[in-house]
Amino acid sequence: TQSTRPQRMLAAVQKNATRGDPRSVVKAIDQFCRQKEWAMNVGDEKGCILDSVVSEVNPATVLELGTYCGYSTVRIASLLPPHAKLITLEFNPDNAVIARQVIAWAGLEDKIQLVEGASGDWIPKMKEEFGVKTFDLVFLDHWKDRYLPDTKLMEECGLLRKGSILLADNVICPGTPDYLEYVRNSPRYKSQYFKSHLEYTKVEDGLEKSVFLG
Ligand code: SAM
Ligand code: MG
Repeated sequence: TQSTRPQRMLAAVQKNATRGDPRSVVKAIDQFCRQKEWAMNVGDEKGCILDSVVSEVNPATVLELGTYCGYSTVRIASLLPPHAKLITLEFNPDNAVIARQVIAWAGLEDKIQLVEGASGDWIPKMKEEFGVKTFDLVFLDHWKDRYLPDTKLMEECGLLRKGSILLADNVICPGTPDYLEYVRNSPRYKSQYFKSHLEYTKVEDGLEKSVFLG
């Protein structure tokens, strides 16, 4: 039977990355995507912007929407301070199986809780199920029409505090026009665009960083 792209990406990690070395995992995936097959990871170029935001925020609690194969999960978790926790949501069980192995190869299982299911179902249950008060940082990178409804859901559920940071990928390509309109015009956010390129291409894309003002 034929393998899937996530399975081939995992194989590239197992062949080329060092166990317990998150940077080598990231590098193996980027190399695979540049030389063999494009994949929807945030990628090396936008990944550097993601890294700098994570380092600047130095979050104790992070929520990631959209794990895929765990590329950005590994990038984020490798920069977290001790005792910090990253919850990442993925509704495709085939992707979750791969992501768990990528995370384990990076040696980051202790920092990451991969939760299987849809964001719209889990966000209202975050507090009771995971004992989370609020998130310091949220990385939005799931299906683009969910950015806005899930942001409003996080507000309603009290998961954002004054100063929480939303970092949204792919705001230009494929694009999230309703979300951008909201965070750029709502008095509850201060928002900033980081221009870059769609993962592994020269097409314009970027990240939107939005501070929740309460
Ligand atoms: N953040 C990953 C990275 O940079 O390595 C890439 C994530 S990929 C662009 C989007 C993922 O979100 C897919 O694996 C998809 O199955 C998942 N997804 C989409 N909508 C979702 C939802 N509403 N809840 C949970 N997962 C979702
Ligand atoms: Mg993305």
